[in-house]
Amino acid sequence: MTEAVLVVGSANADLVVAAERRPAGGETVLGGDTQILPGGKGANTAVAAARLGADVALIGAVGDDAHGRLLLDSLRGSGVGTDRVRIVDRPTGAAYITVTPDGENSILVSPGANHALAPADVAEPAGARVLVASLEVPLDVVEHAIAETSREGVRTVLNLSPTAKLSDETLQALDVLVVNEHEAAWLLGTDSSDGQDNGGTGAGADNAADGARLLDLGPDAVVITRGPDGATVLTRGGAGGVDEVMVPSPQVTAVDTTGAGDAFTGALVTWLASGATVSDAARRAVDVAAVSVTKHGAQPSYPLLDELS
Ligand code: ADP
Repeated sequence: MTEAVLVVGSANADLVVAAERRPAGGETVLGGDTQILPGGKGANTAVAAARLGADVALIGAVGDDAHGRLLLDSLRGSGVGTDRVRIVDRPTGAAYITVTPDGENSILVSPGANHALAPADVAEPAGARVLVASLEVPLDVVEHAIAETSREGVRTVLNLSPTAKLSDETLQALDVLVVNEHEAAWLLGTDSSDGQDNGGTGAGADNAADGARLLDLGPDAVVITRGPDGATVLTRGGAGGVDEVMVPSPQVTAVDTTGAGDAFTGALVTWLASGATVSDAARRAVDVAAVSVTKHGAQPSYPLLDELS
């Protein structure tokens, strides 16, 4: 049987250490105890959707090691199908996260097994209603998955995180592109955070012209997540115009925003799979993501359906 939601993406062990400051080159700094938590954008998205009751499977890869077993246990414990998580001869992906008292995280990702995922792993999407992908796995795998599934009439959702240069064919095959404000600015060529001049105006995705440019890239809908401000849903309106729906977030006291974007995406695809419009799905997704930021961690912070008000 094929699950209603197929997630193509990474599974990483998050190795988190709190430290007074991050070490400079050549320096050794003592930190606190290591916390080892299940993470990775694909696994997080799948767990968020499963906790909301979606019938979901992850297509991914882990190593034959303790981190891989931690991830498989977490996925299965949340009800995610793992038959298509391949166990490969590389170490499970790991994210080395240093947290300093100013709340800044520095993260070094070792993709490991995630980079053993191959286009052949994403064959046979038939039967699924929604395929959702993110970019901590090889780009050719994601592009192949989107091409295959859109041909089958499956709705395709891409969380462009981390950013990657997609082919025009992929962008045009997409039903929904999900980006945060930085990723939207990167797509528009207005992100100067990497120190490179992308030739843009520095305006960000703040106006209808930017919305039209994002839709011109090819997807049927673009969802921009805006942290505490919620999300904006952009679709084509009549006469070539842009329909922009602002979806405000409930006001909450955030204690840890790790994995909030993955909670949002997992919730979005859960409601898309049950037939909701993108705007209606985004309205549910901001509620889910708001709960997730009130608790520590990524996967452990994701609500069950009956925890939502
Ligand atoms: P990412 O985590 O991918 O950088 P965002 O920061 O935009 O993306 O967060 C994703 C979603 O999580 C937002 O659209 C919002 O629904 C929710 N969210 C993030 N931060 C907060 C916050 N401080 N309060 C309420 N909701 C939040």
